[in-house]
Amino acid sequence: FSAAKKHAQSPDPVVAAKSAIVDEAGSHSYVDLLRDARKVRAALGNRDHRGASIGMLMPNSYEYAAVQWGIWAAGGAVLPLSPMHPERELEYFITDSEARFLICHPTLLANVQPVLSKLGSSLQVIMSDSIMEITSADSTDDVVIDENQSALLIYTSGTTGKPKGVVHTHATIAAQVRALHTAWGWTSSDRLLHVLPLHHIHGIVVALCSALWAGATAEIAAKFDRSRVWSRIIDGPQDISIFMGVPAMYSRLLGALGDMPLERQHAARAAMSRLRLTVSGSAALPASVFKQWHQATGQVMLERYGMSEIGMALSNDAAHPAARRAGSVGKPLPSVQVRLADADGADVTDVPGASGMIQVKGPSVFKEYYGLLEKTAKEFTSDGWFITGDIGTRDEEGMYRIMGRESVDIIKSGGFKLSALEIERELLDHPSIVDAAVVGIPSEEWGEAVAAAVILRAGTLLALDDLKPWCHKRMARYKIPKQLHVVDGLPRNLMGKLDKSAVKAFFGN
Ligand code: ATP
Ligand code: MG
Repeated sequence: FSAAKKHAQSPDPVVAAKSAIVDEAGSHSYVDLLRDARKVRAALGNRDHRGASIGMLMPNSYEYAAVQWGIWAAGGAVLPLSPMHPERELEYFITDSEARFLICHPTLLANVQPVLSKLGSSLQVIMSDSIMEITSADSTDDVVIDENQSALLIYTSGTTGKPKGVVHTHATIAAQVRALHTAWGWTSSDRLLHVLPLHHIHGIVVALCSALWAGATAEIAAKFDRSRVWSRIIDGPQDISIFMGVPAMYSRLLGALGDMPLERQHAARAAMSRLRLTVSGSAALPASVFKQWHQATGQVMLERYGMSEIGMALSNDAAHPAARRAGSVGKPLPSVQVRLADADGADVTDVPGASGMIQVKGPSVFKEYYGLLEKTAKEFTSDGWFITGDIGTRDEEGMYRIMGRESVDIIKSGGFKLSALEIERELLDHPSIVDAAVVGIPSEEWGEAVAAAVILRAGTLLALDDLKPWCHKRMARYKIPKQLHVVDGLPRNLMGKLDKSAVKAFFGN
């Protein structure tokens, strides 16, 4: 909020009048954003909501940002809800976070109506259209924000269990954004094409907050639509400098590109190659997608690693595309400390070839899991490092590679610890395989056996007996899938993350 305010109150009229956000309804300046944020504060009673969770259910749009900044102007902690969340999840997030207010867009009211009926008067709903009609909110003083008060209550993706409410303060968000600014060279001349969901750290902090902090412009799409992305990039003004996506979005963009006539493919390449950065995160980026993206657009994708609890921690080099590596998530961002620990907790960061639990320390690490003090304490080492749950390795250049979550992606088979992500990466190089998910399933002989669910390229067939010899040439014997299941679709959530327990169900587990 202080960043948006700074740009809106800039003595330079060009900065203040500059587009902060462009959406389908038009262009909105930093002055608009500050004014509308204050309307939101007025609708919340012009009082100090210090650290209290305030829910918001808004489509991806300028108004989304105005409401988020308005909750901050009122001192509250933003609880972003998604139009895609089913009723059961909305109810869980609202009750778990103890939100007393919910700002809702009229088109989404039906999504929460059953929850509202259950909660009765304990939850007050404010309709966003009524807020925008407020006329006299400009002159009141903003509440004074303590940077250590809660600013964001963001629920994890629930990949490994029930989603946890991660509490970030203004200070931890500012630290994340500052680190990304330094590392990725954000400036006010940047223009971001924003197609990510806005209820997740990737869409809110890495994308939206970074752009607004820089005084840049964010073009927000109502949702990710691959043909619209291409027509914006090819046919629109050639002024987009940054694009961010999850791996599944890049796969779909490549698919759409392949269907275009050759001439348009050339135009797409010329337009996309002008961007300063194309960034991938939230799930492992297959090397095949990294390579195809480079071939098709001339862009060397920048992969980075982070999570709700820590913001971004590791990133490939933004200044030197040639230094980026497929399958690697790069080095620690400024102000972030990263280390690898073995099963006994000993630091193995510098041991060549060792894999270990990724642990992170720094000013961007979250404050706590909401209402779960014991759980919060358990996830930190006695010397204050956050235990991410992800296993990684580090090469001699200091670049990290993610092997996956210890709880679901590390398969214990015949005395070996195998990374499902590494096996997926290999399988994705197979000419017939479009997408793959690898899991461990119980086996009397091996403890766990490797099983793969794959989506095949249209018109191709693949049996386990064909796959095995192909695998033999590329991976150790014990990594080769013992079961193969061909499927039409894989269970991925909104952020493209695989639901591994649903994948296990394909194999009757
Ligand atoms: P939950 O904590 O509820 O189980 P989640 O961990 O998927 O869900 P998020 O915080 O949204 O929730 O996601 C963070 C996780 O995403 C990381 O811990 C990591 O496993 C994965 N991830 C993020 N970026 C990458 C990447 N570049 N490569 C591989 N995995 C990644
Ligand atoms: Mg997690």
